[in-house]
Amino acid sequence: MKRRDFFTNAILAGGGITLGIQCKRGTESQEQNPLESVTSDLSNTKFVTEPQREIPVFAETDVLVIGGGPAGTTAAIAASRTGADTWLIERYNHLGGLWTGGIVLPLYSTHGLDKNNRQIQVMYGLGNEIWQELRKVGGSIYEVDPVIDPEAGKYVMEKMVVTSGVQVLYHTIATNVLMDGNIIRGVFIENKSGRSVILAKVVIDCTGDGDIFHLAGDNYINLKGNIGLVHRLGNIDKIDSSKPGFVRFDKLLGREGKISIGRETPVPGVNWNNMHGIDDQDGTDALNLSDLQITFRQKIWDNFQALKKTPGYESVFLLDTASQLGVRVSRVLEGQYKLTLKDTMTYRRFDDVIGVSGAWTTILFNGKRIPKQKRPLWQIPYRSLVPQKTDNLLVAGRCFCFEQELLEDARIIATCLITGQGAGVAAGLSIRDRTRPRDIDIGGLKKELTNQDVYLG
Ligand SMILES: Cc1cc2nc3c(=O)[nH]c(=O)nc-3n(C[C@H](O)[C@H](O)[C@H](O)COP(=O)(O)OP(=O)(O)OC[C@H]3O[C@@H](n4cnc5c(N)ncnc54)[C@H](O)[C@@H]3O)c2cc1C
Repeated sequence: MKRRDFFTNAILAGGGITLGIQCKRGTESQEQNPLESVTSDLSNTKFVTEPQREIPVFAETDVLVIGGGPAGTTAAIAASRTGADTWLIERYNHLGGLWTGGIVLPLYSTHGLDKNNRQIQVMYGLGNEIWQELRKVGGSIYEVDPVIDPEAGKYVMEKMVVTSGVQVLYHTIATNVLMDGNIIRGVFIENKSGRSVILAKVVIDCTGDGDIFHLAGDNYINLKGNIGLVHRLGNIDKIDSSKPGFVRFDKLLGREGKISIGRETPVPGVNWNNMHGIDDQDGTDALNLSDLQITFRQKIWDNFQALKKTPGYESVFLLDTASQLGVRVSRVLEGQYKLTLKDTMTYRRFDDVIGVSGAWTTILFNGKRIPKQKRPLWQIPYRSLVPQKTDNLLVAGRCFCFEQELLEDARIIATCLITGQGAGVAAGLSIRDRTRPRDIDIGGLKKELTNQDVYLG
């Protein structure tokens, strides 16, 4: 259902649409003092009972993608290109997730080592299409593992999503699921218009944090990782090495509060500055995320002040800190198949391959350090996007099903773009063939992915 139709229906129905879903206005309980029913559990957490109420149906769609990061963007475009009616929900005001809003600018793992010892491009399909569009607008540098301009990224991805016919809903967070046994009938959303529900036939969880499979009660593990905050500095090209007392950037390292001027971006004079941050953090603990945000902003500000006082660096300014905190990992799906590091280091082939990813860093395998140049390209099986319980859910991006040892490669942007497209096409075929995502014809899936220019190895 398109937005206009929804409003028409809402008016016709006097603002109260039930569509057979049991929702009653909680008038009786609202007359009571809600604090009279406060309970608490063993940990002394207090609970109130939320009054039951009618929730408007905002839209009905074939495919509902939650989260507009790299995975959600390609999932939505891919589903729409199969002909499925597709909605994309994003809590912020842009697409790209951590890639753009998190200012995590290098698109790693575009290339990998084939069996003939050649470094070949493995990221094709929508990931490559986005990359080529970025090139056209001057929003990308380097021929392998490009670094992008985040504003160009937001622009290009939004244009591609809108052109493909996807309905985008920004400034909206998915807060719950409407379950019917093992089927998600709809996803509750909240935004400035209030609380409503979008009914969907297939849902794709691209939230990065696995919000939807968590809410649906599916199986997952919550991994802890290092969380940081990325920022950008401007006027890097105005750094004046002729100033008395000037110290080269590498000599600045090691001071208290380690100062870094980061690495170049497509925007002249602007560098992006990564942050390892603090290890072993829970990316789903809101209070923790708030504390980290405050700590990191202070640290970036202090570093920036120190940098400005350093001879030669006076003109450098703090352009921005990322609007999305850098959560590298949190909930990871326990799906139909857990992809292992060994699979990916041994050129394992899968009958249900949905794409191939590459290499970006040195990894530890069998006690040996394997440099990027020696790391084999690796196939991703469809079953790793399919949850164990929920019938009409697929998962893509940094929370699909892989073992912890593979984390460094599984969470990387090219992998997210590839899993997103795989999930999107699968969702579209599930709609077309009226079958559960886990039962779709794998031959048909691979054919459609090949039609969409995905490299399957
Ligand atoms: C500090 C840091 C540095 C990194 N460096 C690199 C690098 O150099 N190169 C590289 O390739 N990768 C890097 N990564 C990894 C990579 O950026 C991420 O793993 C990747 O962006 C994940 O993509 P995704 O689509 O799965 O999720 P995300 O990028 O996290 O996007 C998820 C989107 O879903 C939205 N969302 C979440 N929950 C909801 C909800 N309930 N309702 C509505 N919307 C929701 C979010 O707002 C977000 O836009 C880095 C990560 C971090 C944190």
